[in-house]
Amino acid sequence: MTLSMMACAKSGKAPDFHYDVDRFADLQILRYKVPGFDSLSLNQKLLVYYLSQAALEGRDILYDQNFYLNLPIRRTLEAVYGNYKGDRSSDEFSKLEKYLKRVWFSNGIHHHYGQEKFLPEFSESFFREAVLSVDPSLLPLREGESAGDLLNTLVPAMFDPSLYVKKVNQTPGEDLIVTSANNYYGKGITQNEVEAFYGKMRDPNDSTPVSYGLNSRLVKEDGVLKEKVWKVGGLYSPAIERIVGWLEKAEGVAENAQQKAVISKLIEYYRSGELKAFDEYAILWLKDTDSQVDFVNGFTETYGDPLGIKASWEGIVNFKNTEATRRTETISANALWFEKNSPTDKRFQKDSVTGVSAKVITVAMLGGDCYPATPIGINLPNSNWIRHDYGSKSVTIENITEAYDKASQGSGFAEEFVWSDTERDLLEKYGFITDNIHVDLHECLGHGSGKLLPGVSADALKEYGATNEETRADLFGLYFIADPKMVELGLLPNEEAYKAEYYRFMMNGLMTQLVRIEPGKDIEESHMRNRQLIARWVYEAGKPDNVVELREKDGKHYVVINDYQALRKLFGELLAEIQRVKSEGDYEGAKALVETYAVKVDPVLHAEVLERYKALNLAPYKGFVNPVMSLVTDSDGNVTDVTLDYTEGYADQMMRYSKEYSSLPAYNN
Ligand code: ZN
Repeated sequence: MTLSMMACAKSGKAPDFHYDVDRFADLQILRYKVPGFDSLSLNQKLLVYYLSQAALEGRDILYDQNFYLNLPIRRTLEAVYGNYKGDRSSDEFSKLEKYLKRVWFSNGIHHHYGQEKFLPEFSESFFREAVLSVDPSLLPLREGESAGDLLNTLVPAMFDPSLYVKKVNQTPGEDLIVTSANNYYGKGITQNEVEAFYGKMRDPNDSTPVSYGLNSRLVKEDGVLKEKVWKVGGLYSPAIERIVGWLEKAEGVAENAQQKAVISKLIEYYRSGELKAFDEYAILWLKDTDSQVDFVNGFTETYGDPLGIKASWEGIVNFKNTEATRRTETISANALWFEKNSPTDKRFQKDSVTGVSAKVITVAMLGGDCYPATPIGINLPNSNWIRHDYGSKSVTIENITEAYDKASQGSGFAEEFVWSDTERDLLEKYGFITDNIHVDLHECLGHGSGKLLPGVSADALKEYGATNEETRADLFGLYFIADPKMVELGLLPNEEAYKAEYYRFMMNGLMTQLVRIEPGKDIEESHMRNRQLIARWVYEAGKPDNVVELREKDGKHYVVINDYQALRKLFGELLAEIQRVKSEGDYEGAKALVETYAVKVDPVLHAEVLERYKALNLAPYKGFVNPVMSLVTDSDGNVTDVTLDYTEGYADQMMRYSKEYSSLPAYNN
């Protein structure tokens, strides 16, 4: 499972490091730093290097998984982009460049988030002329095929809006397999056939089932359904062989025996394609908690298949951020203190409590389905029985969230929505650290705090349970981030820093999160509901004392916090009430809070926020370029160091990857 980040913003001035790389369509390309890389040992750097190569080698697999013509389309566009001798400053050519940038971003011709096919803005005649103008040997032609034949295959797929409309179709009532353009299922296969095929494999008495169908394409040959497994010697073999080659090198420089066993099991799985080996690998990977370097490499998440059976290929290489992980460990080690000092009723408090110590990581390379669009948190493995029996690894990727934060500075967002320089200064100085601490408190302690009264069922709050739970965890964080204990534990620099989080939270909950809601719609998503519930409740409750205001200036509204300590007290009161609702299983109480504060949107304020946000012209989706990782060798050819370079541009990186990490044929059957 992954956690992703949408539009979110803080405050400040433009940074020195160039986070901003490119901007086109609805997309913004950023760069991330890899702090701490230089402090790794040479051996660890080499391990990161080899794993990074393995993370980049699977790129073509994902293109082919997303749609069967993605590779020939990408290669044809790249041939034109790299070799077109006509007018490169023409409107048509710049539209082709924009389309290619979008194809790179989405790893295919369908929107990475919305799933719909995006259409070229250049004309079909320009495309035909441009393709016919380049040397045919540069085009992805099959045996005996001409450039004209290639165009006849690609043009309808690219230009006809009625074909291959959605990569993943989730519309209930339609045949989700027939109507999805992804390449996980061969031609002529229906949803009923898929369900019957995998339904037969599942044994209801098996308590440790493998993830049936995870690593294969299901095809129909001579009327018979069969799986084409993604493995060495199977489908995608050329790319998988290269991945295995790099993993073997990584195995040779593993940090310890446990990690070596993890890599070796993964190699075994790529060779055999046996899903049992994949589960064994997942368990070994879970047990490897000592290594500093860690990675994900393989067929992992199933969001790309409407039935959630087939996994897309992804790669990510990271190492532990020891300083930030110490932060979550400090919080967890003091879990009982927080529990006993919570403003909740003593009857609802636990007598012993263990905090969850989430690992904070720094990514060094992103590949496959993690590139260029990137998660900010990962929780794996996905197999239910393994999670139940062995647990899961949960990580937050701090150098990615930091890049988002830095890139939002200078976007004009804070200038537009934050009341004054006082609040902007607070956000600039403390916004990043307090946001992280709030997440830590929410994840490490909030969800695990409190208890149910005897006889109360865990799902007594039914459809209001999720929002109530997120509200509880957020309030736990909000209440304690302002506690002097945070400074005492060395987690915050001073007793003013928390104000940054209070301001950000109230501005977001009362106003700016509304940019993600369409006019006239209610708030549905439980995290968004929870934020508005909290912000609206304390706003209303604090009205007699004017604790928080929505102040108007020049026809625009701003959040102004007049009394931070009073606000903290209100967060505490609401936390006590939300905890009571949960502990007693008070369904009516949960319903009243959610329906009164969390769902409905003030239409006038909403319209104002949308208009102000639109004027900022910010890209709703963001992705990243990777650093360039290079080996440094001495005169004898021995590797003496691994270096990172942060200057490569978006198109340059994509063209280089297509040259260096492209081992699959254009068509994979
Ligand atoms: Zn949560």
